[in-house]
Amino acid sequence: MMQRRKSRQVTVGDVPVGGDAPISVQSMTKTDTSDPEATSAQIFELAGCGCEIIRVAVPDQTSAAALSVICSRSPIPVIADIHFDYRLALKAIDAGISGLRINPGNIGADWKVKEVVKASREKRIPIRVGVNAGSLEKRLEEKYGGPTPEALVESALREIELIEKQGYEEIKVAVKAFDVFITIEAYRLLAEKVDYPFHIGITEAGPLLPGAIRSSIGLGILLREGMGDTIRVSLTAPPRDEVRVGREILQVLGLRRFGPVIISCPTCGRCRVDLLSLIRRIEERINGLGDLRDLSGVKVAVMGCRVNGPGEARQADLGIAAGKKSALLFKKGKIVKRGKLAAMVEDLMDALSSWPNISSRRR
Ligand code: SF4
Repeated sequence: MMQRRKSRQVTVGDVPVGGDAPISVQSMTKTDTSDPEATSAQIFELAGCGCEIIRVAVPDQTSAAALSVICSRSPIPVIADIHFDYRLALKAIDAGISGLRINPGNIGADWKVKEVVKASREKRIPIRVGVNAGSLEKRLEEKYGGPTPEALVESALREIELIEKQGYEEIKVAVKAFDVFITIEAYRLLAEKVDYPFHIGITEAGPLLPGAIRSSIGLGILLREGMGDTIRVSLTAPPRDEVRVGREILQVLGLRRFGPVIISCPTCGRCRVDLLSLIRRIEERINGLGDLRDLSGVKVAVMGCRVNGPGEARQADLGIAAGKKSALLFKKGKIVKRGKLAAMVEDLMDALSSWPNISSRRR
């Protein structure tokens, strides 16, 4: 892992972004923002599964009008995503948002951006300059012959300059494309020019599986190179999947610890149980344990046969190897108990809920 890029820190509500702050996971609501009930419900759901910052699209006045209710209810900071109309940004700021995302390609004349900066400065709201390959200024498309990394960076730098000219430096930046290599190169170039915190993501990454893979490769490379202060995985999938994928990426890279690591075998002709249902059940039970940070790094294995399971998952702290008639409970590859599968699942859960850190915290 390369050293983390040194970035300055801004705060989105109560979440620090940049500097030595933990790399935060964010998502975006997929409800109609003008419906504060549905939007608030989704924000609560996402906060419950680990989303730390939420962004909402504000496409019209009715959505902007719903923001004050949404912001007052939200347990996590709300960022308003504004395109085209600077007046919506002003209204959102008034409504109590914790951050603003504007797109330099379409917000319009410089004076409009200046108005937005002025209002943000009054409330000390960070502004994210979110450049997107799909909505780059025409001028830059023509100059570079398409949304190249250089074009994305020039767009971002121009907007940053405009904000800086107002004496405001609470800025985050993103230069996203669907193409992983364009995105990576754009962030590399940008890292040479500015020290503002990076919001990283691969835009319009696709449905769950291909999108998670595309995002993991793109974000994985950037994070491995030390870049990224907050991440958003963009998927055509429920937003909780975006949060889940984002957290997994950070956990796999050892950058955050959110809970136990589940190891499970792919199954093969030796498997005599419905391992898929078993793992879903165990996952649900583990998630039901509440705050899982005390189980961070604990490796839990769920294996499909008694013959090879314990050996194959030797690195696990705890595990179950399921057989047709009975199952084994093992620790670090050593069998400690055998019995009916349901009973072994209970023993596994007991062992997890009395794991040393958890028990000391709950005492
Ligand atoms: Fe197959 Fe058993 Fe290995 Fe699972 S643990 S892949 S069922 S041999």
